[in-house]
Amino acid sequence: MKRIIYIPFDHLHRKFGALKGANPQADLIALVESARMTTGRNWHKERLFFLISSARHFARSLEEEGFTVEYVKAATTIDGLKIIEKKYPIIPIFCAEPSSFRQYEALKNYGVSFIDNDFFLTPRPLFQSWASEQKNYLMESFYRKQRVRLGILMDGKEPMGGAWNFDKENRLPPPKKYEGPPYLEHSRDEIDKQVAAELGHTSTTTWATTRKGALAQMKNFFDNHFADFGPLEDAMTSDNWALHHSLLSPYLNNGLLHASEVIDAAMKAFQTGSIPIESAEGFVRQIIGWREYVNGMYWFLGPDYRENNQLNANRTLLPLFIDPDKTSMNCMKETVTDINERGWVHHIPRLMLLSNLALITGTNPQEFLDWMREEFIDASEWVMVPNVIGMGVHADGGLMMTKPYAAGGAYISRMSNYCKGCVYDPKARAGENACPFTTLYWDFLDRHKETFIKNHRMSQQVFGLNRLKDLPELKMRAQEVLAGLALGQI
Ligand SMILES: Cc1cc2nc3c(=O)[nH]c(=O)nc-3n(C[C@H](O)[C@H](O)[C@H](O)COP(=O)(O)OP(=O)(O)OC[C@H]3O[C@@H](n4cnc5c(N)ncnc54)[C@H](O)[C@@H]3O)c2cc1C
Ligand code: SF4
Repeated sequence: MKRIIYIPFDHLHRKFGALKGANPQADLIALVESARMTTGRNWHKERLFFLISSARHFARSLEEEGFTVEYVKAATTIDGLKIIEKKYPIIPIFCAEPSSFRQYEALKNYGVSFIDNDFFLTPRPLFQSWASEQKNYLMESFYRKQRVRLGILMDGKEPMGGAWNFDKENRLPPPKKYEGPPYLEHSRDEIDKQVAAELGHTSTTTWATTRKGALAQMKNFFDNHFADFGPLEDAMTSDNWALHHSLLSPYLNNGLLHASEVIDAAMKAFQTGSIPIESAEGFVRQIIGWREYVNGMYWFLGPDYRENNQLNANRTLLPLFIDPDKTSMNCMKETVTDINERGWVHHIPRLMLLSNLALITGTNPQEFLDWMREEFIDASEWVMVPNVIGMGVHADGGLMMTKPYAAGGAYISRMSNYCKGCVYDPKARAGENACPFTTLYWDFLDRHKETFIKNHRMSQQVFGLNRLKDLPELKMRAQEVLAGLALGQI
């Protein structure tokens, strides 16, 4: 053997990373299931099940191809590599550049040699050079450059369909009693059952744990959901837990799918003529825009960025995040119940419910970030840190997003059917039946008015405070709401 190739659990692709060009005669494969990863924190069991079972299936597929695979369990990744090195001394270890600062440092210090990380469409140096030329890091500017650079949805030099985005068309509320096509279910095999038994977990059939299953999920999206993706992408409904979202993030993030494969399939479907431009553009924006931008910003902003708390938010994590029975807010109860079930909700509940509530209650950003990291099936450090610290709770003082995503009950009422089954009234801002989102939205603006009045995108909202005749009552109600939320009684 000439090389040991170490495969982290988020590099599970045969054709990318360190496995590109690997061969069973020269390369030995190492995978480490570390206790740090499995028992180090209060991880959602469905998440552990998905990550571990995918890695074991992947290890099996490499064995079937003829590779010698060492899959070891150890306290940490480095301890695992030490065990493997004892068995195969003096063989150099290679790995594609890891996806987090922590793992990068740990492997570098251990002497692992890195191969460029090509799990994204944008090389890290290219993003760095874009970001270092920007005054403010607008995703929209990055995205337009990506469209041109990658030649996706372009008509010569112009954007296809005559516009760079179709956001206006893509903000429909949910239709009444919406069912939609059934979701794909994934059957479980012996490896799945073994992993579930080790974790003491009854797995769902929602997430595939093999490349074949991930490809089936991708096909299902393009065949049954892609055409309707755009218009309903911001809608939330208790009738249908995913609407037309692709459910591809777990596979894109653990490597079972590569972004280039998803984009190629999207363009193939679009070329049939059956996909409206607003859906095609809306989806492409997520993959070549948001996903690449968030990864680039993670590396650009550096390891200390995660510790930002510019709004001095120090409230401890609310009990309703752990236990949905600790709230009567219908939107939050339904959302946390969904997360407990399958470790996933789409980007609007993540942003406009979970993060919005953490933001306007003044919840500590790092406590909230840790909770999000533990609960979501697709969570990794590179993707959660910018999404939560920058986009979700504005803890970076506006470095990534020009304004905080704070909203009251009116937005949630417009974009979902949650308010119909709620004890609170989205329109009321003071009094016992006031929607906590509405009360706390105004209270948040009032608490931070000196900061936000200087922000031209927020000043109108802050001036809106002057129109509130009931501000004193609202402020009193806000104190009751904050106390009640802390006790799990709102
Ligand atoms: C506070 C917050 C936390 C988030 N945490 C994560 C996370 O831990 N992991 C994660 O993959 N996504 C995260 N996202 C982004 C987004 O919510 C999920 O990617 C999406 O909901 C996954 O479901 P889907 O595959 O059906 O996505 P779709 O709606 O079908 O979108 C297609 C793909 O676009 C990509 N994408 C879209 N938006 C983003 C984004 N902001 N950042 C990165 N990729 C994006 C994803 O790969 C996704 O699979 C977060 C967003 C917010 C607001
Ligand atoms: S009224 Fe407020 S708390 Fe209730 S579901 Fe609507 S937004 Fe959520």
